[in-house]
Amino acid sequence: MIDFRENVKRMQGYVPGEQPLPGAKVVKLNTNENPYPPSPEVMKVLHQFDGDWLRRYPEPAATAVREAAAQVYGVPADWIVAANGSDETLALLARALLEPGRTVAYPTPTYSLYVTLAEMQDASVVEVPYDDDYNLPVEGLLDVGADLTFVCSPNNPSATVAAEADLERLATGLSGVLVIDEAYADFADENGLGLVGRHENVIVLRTLSKGYSLAGLRLGLGVAQPPLLEGLQKIKDSYNVDSVALRLGAAALADQAWVEVNADRIKASRTALAEALAAMGFRVWPSQANFVMARPPQGDAGRLYEQLRERGILVRYWDRPRLADKLRITVGTDEENQVLVEALRELTA
Ligand code: PMP
Repeated sequence: MIDFRENVKRMQGYVPGEQPLPGAKVVKLNTNENPYPPSPEVMKVLHQFDGDWLRRYPEPAATAVREAAAQVYGVPADWIVAANGSDETLALLARALLEPGRTVAYPTPTYSLYVTLAEMQDASVVEVPYDDDYNLPVEGLLDVGADLTFVCSPNNPSATVAAEADLERLATGLSGVLVIDEAYADFADENGLGLVGRHENVIVLRTLSKGYSLAGLRLGLGVAQPPLLEGLQKIKDSYNVDSVALRLGAAALADQAWVEVNADRIKASRTALAEALAAMGFRVWPSQANFVMARPPQGDAGRLYEQLRERGILVRYWDRPRLADKLRITVGTDEENQVLVEALRELTA
């Protein structure tokens, strides 16, 4: 008989958003991908890729990527760990810091991978609710005093950002590790990167999946002082970042202008989308990400999700506390957003 660990038997597992096969005729606004292509510099490296680089194992320290990231983040390269997407960095943190008897805390609703990782480690979970405006519940998180605290900023799915002063208070008051998951920082006006220099218990996570249009490449970066990274380096697979991601990732990080131009376009489209939804009576939370959280006027988000799906428009919906009356909509191109807005206009009329 296959006898999994008790906590594995109990857990549900993470449920990712729907990924239709390439070529499927859908307007895909459900997994926060960037609607614009990766940098031409990235595509050049891909087209010139040498088969010999695949014959060999990748370089375990991911030096070129870490050096390129060091330039972008303004920290030394030994303050950076590279991983197979931020999801792997999150998993490394959970594996290094959580075990039965240890506690993880995070404000909710948030990225649902955090609870999955805690369950995998059989750790205790304390969820601290956000208020309706999604201010960071600093006192509540300090009261828990967890071994590992996750803060997602901009938060998935609310798209709201944590104030830097709140993050600072949290980092100062916690003796455990504070993870600031900044997967969407490329679309935000503020971020917590500055905390890393002041707090040895803080790690900031970035990814190339969103701002760099490279969700399919799988490259994430963690920024922290070296003593915190030491434990992660010990437990990571030697070859967690493959040779393609190493070379393309370095090229992508070197082309910041591409990231900025696309982020600016997405931010302009985000404003237009939020305004169109608000004009139809939706409540839209202020977004600093490449998606918006929106409550339809009647709160009938589940029905709208299904009806949009029937029309080939994918958005994200969770039948979960505080989310069952809301949709999370990725900002697409202006044309895609227009298709969505027109469909919603008909469906809510
Ligand atoms: N953190 C958050 C908040 C996310 O929304 C995502 C994407 N689903 C990730 C991390 C994972 O990103 P990556 O593609 O780098 O694994």
